[in-house]
Amino acid sequence: MYLAHQIRLDPNNVQATYLGRAAGTARFAYNWALAEWKRQFEASKTDPTVPKPNEAALRRQLNAIKREQFPWMLEVTKNAPQMAIMQLGQAFENFFKGLARYPTFRRKGRDDRFALSNDQFRVDGKRIHIPKLGWLRMRECLHYTGRIISASVKRVADRWYVSITVDIPTPLLSPAENQGAVGVDLGVTALATLSTGERFTGPKALGTRLDRMRRLARDLSRKVKGSRSYAKAKRKLSRLHVQIADLRRDSLHQLSTYLTGQFHTIGIEDLNVKGMLRNHCLARAISDMGFRELRRQLEYKAAWRSVQLVVVDRWYPSSKTCSSCGHRLDSLELAVREWCCPGCGALHDRDVNAAINLREVAVSSTASACGGEGAGLAHMCKVKPSPAKQESSCKVNYG
Ligand SMILES: [Zn+2]
Repeated sequence: MYLAHQIRLDPNNVQATYLGRAAGTARFAYNWALAEWKRQFEASKTDPTVPKPNEAALRRQLNAIKREQFPWMLEVTKNAPQMAIMQLGQAFENFFKGLARYPTFRRKGRDDRFALSNDQFRVDGKRIHIPKLGWLRMRECLHYTGRIISASVKRVADRWYVSITVDIPTPLLSPAENQGAVGVDLGVTALATLSTGERFTGPKALGTRLDRMRRLARDLSRKVKGSRSYAKAKRKLSRLHVQIADLRRDSLHQLSTYLTGQFHTIGIEDLNVKGMLRNHCLARAISDMGFRELRRQLEYKAAWRSVQLVVVDRWYPSSKTCSSCGHRLDSLELAVREWCCPGCGALHDRDVNAAINLREVAVSSTASACGGEGAGLAHMCKVKPSPAKQESSCKVNYG
């Protein structure tokens, strides 16, 4: 299983200059190759003897001319231009498969990054060695042990980060402790509610930072574009964005680690995030809670500990169904936090009730999978991480 660990770098001024130059070289090579690709493609249309462009040929072509035409490229790692062109090849491949749009030119300030293949760098404790630069300090050690695949260095706001991809043998950890099942209702008011009644709220610090972000955004809009104070305000704002993203990811990691450490079966809802984002009042809160991020984390952590993650179809009415008797309400307003079941009289907390229902679906789908065809509710797939992707979930359809 491939996992990436992102670590903040601590470059001194000279090193930061090198990183900026390497990113600039990568961007230049990418844009050069994209322009060449377009030119060669046009040429191959009019003259069928001209071969269609490909990334390997473009890399050879650049190698042949760079000493003459772009000697400054030699000042940084040869990976910077080479990997950039390989990435362009990948971008075209994705485009041809219909997975991505036609590649566009990289821009300074937005695409400040370069990649390294595993033979071009090495990691030792809290430092990383990059060719023609030497040792560079990292804020943390690499968390994962396994075969190192590649690294990518990028600038976010005015900080540099390295993201190291490692191939990890699975399972990494001992199986979950308490062999129980849990349902998780992802919410807007609370980050998550468990079928056990436990509630996880989002990070409190997020609220005050969001206020500050609003203020900074207003400040920025009053400044003259391109001025020194505009650049300063912009830097402040993008730093805050990074902080908020870090906070959010941290709290989600706590939750996903807790869940996969305690339970052997986890039922979560496949939320229609896109549909909900159309509702403007909820948009901020939902995107902040980072549903997709949580699901991504649960998927790979579940694989580590042989936990069954069951993703329940979003059309399953988990909130409207009574978890005691199965009575189904016709409708339930989003504002209603508690309701009394007309079928059996049970008083339900909206979120806990939904979480219990999700637990039941998860349990019954794993049970039916063990007994062959079973109740026909679910088609379970065994949790087995694929080498390239962090997918380990199962879908239960109520189509
Ligand atoms: Zn009931």
